[in-house]
Amino acid sequence: MQYEAVIGLEIHAQLATESKIFSGAATRYGAPPNTQACLVDLGYPGVLPVLNREAVRMAVRFGLATHCRIAERSIFARKNYFYPDLPKGYQISQYELPIVHGGYIDVICADRVKRIGITRAHLEEDAGKSLHEDFQGMSGIDLNRAGTPLLEIVSEPDMRSAAEAGAYMRTIHTLVRYLGISDGNMQEGSYRCDANVSIRPRGATELGTRTELKNLNSFRFVEKAIEIEIERQIDIVESGGTVVQETRLFDAERGETRAMRGKEEAEDYRYFPDPDLLPVSIDSALVDELRAGLPELPVEKRERFMAQYDLSAYDADILTASRPLADYYEDCVRHSRARPKLAANWVIGDLAAALNRADLEIGESRVGAAELGALLDRIESGTISGKIAKEVFEAVWNGEGGVDEIIERRGLRQISDSASIEALVDEVVAANPAQVQQYRDGRTQVLGFFVGQVMKASKGRANPRQVNEILRAKLG
Ligand code: ADP
Ligand code: MG
Repeated sequence: MQYEAVIGLEIHAQLATESKIFSGAATRYGAPPNTQACLVDLGYPGVLPVLNREAVRMAVRFGLATHCRIAERSIFARKNYFYPDLPKGYQISQYELPIVHGGYIDVICADRVKRIGITRAHLEEDAGKSLHEDFQGMSGIDLNRAGTPLLEIVSEPDMRSAAEAGAYMRTIHTLVRYLGISDGNMQEGSYRCDANVSIRPRGATELGTRTELKNLNSFRFVEKAIEIEIERQIDIVESGGTVVQETRLFDAERGETRAMRGKEEAEDYRYFPDPDLLPVSIDSALVDELRAGLPELPVEKRERFMAQYDLSAYDADILTASRPLADYYEDCVRHSRARPKLAANWVIGDLAAALNRADLEIGESRVGAAELGALLDRIESGTISGKIAKEVFEAVWNGEGGVDEIIERRGLRQISDSASIEALVDEVVAANPAQVQQYRDGRTQVLGFFVGQVMKASKGRANPRQVNEILRAKLG
């Protein structure tokens, strides 16, 4: 039997607000335990939550960017459960009326565009953290994270493979960072997801029973966990069993998913509207204001890069993966008369490799966009060859000076006057009679050897096109 996988993701993006969603406590990451939890976050009796306006604006911006409907009126609900890192005994979330719903996003996977429905995105608060390591036989509780604003983004069960789920998660990640509503830092847990996975016979229209894989915090893990879970479910069904609805954990080290607990149903949580919070109303003036303030979105930028700079989809995709990278590229093109394609090759190639080696972000590049633009100009004008340009790039990267300064100081200008090249060619030809004979006997591939020798004699500075021409003339 052929099976089809069905996947829906619930992504939690931590919103980049200064303070918490219902209190004034700071949200900064990495503070000493329990120094950023105020009485509201601790759930003391008698305190009242006050909604953070900025979190609402961020959620609406997300909704607008994903073609969602923005609810004129939405409400916060209490989701009741007990856990040590949740002192109130309930999480404030949204249930029946989320702030935005009914949108979609286009995702590129294996060169095809796939539209993934977004069921809803709602605001909620994060819980605290239990720490199990430093306390013998006990657990510590850090409530700094309690009350941190989250946007939970729920997709339709529209994905059909682990690769599609990974592509969707990446696309949303890029989007929230473009919008500036989340830093998307996955090591710090600011962007994580639960994956719901089921299988069904290919061609069936009904959904199968799903399991939910909790807290996947890297793109690679999401894909791996889903792949393993699909196989596990197929094995069960093939051997005559049935999949049970449950929550599972992915163990990356052992490459398996493990049952964690039976799946709760909504009624287990006794959701009810939070009596301490007013409904959120969003009028059309606010929506218009936020719409007008949206930045150019990743898809738009990608298409503009292809049209304006004549780039392939592949190049445009990489260059628009983040706003700072796209800005760097455009800055570089603006500062140079070189072809935009050459700039793309350098940004994607040498620059990216250097950043990678030094473990730096684009904003920390040791070669500025204008400086790279100047380097490209020297290549295009024939002042230096592409190969020498790599040496110049290294030197600029290492702080040895500007492009022109390094070219002059090291004497790297390309040799393009034919007399000097002819002199080098004569030397090399005279020094290698055996190879000259081979060439004249018809083994013309030794030309490569001669080119190499001349380039070496010129310390890489001779114009390769001229070297080729002159060699052919002399040898022929
Ligand atoms: P819950 O309230 O239990 O979290 P939802 O109905 O809100 O469940 O769905 C959560 C996620 O699970 C959504 O992303 C949805 O697309 C996905 N989902 C629902 N049913 C299935 C299924 N049978 N197979 C795969 N994914 C599913
Ligand atoms: Mg869920």
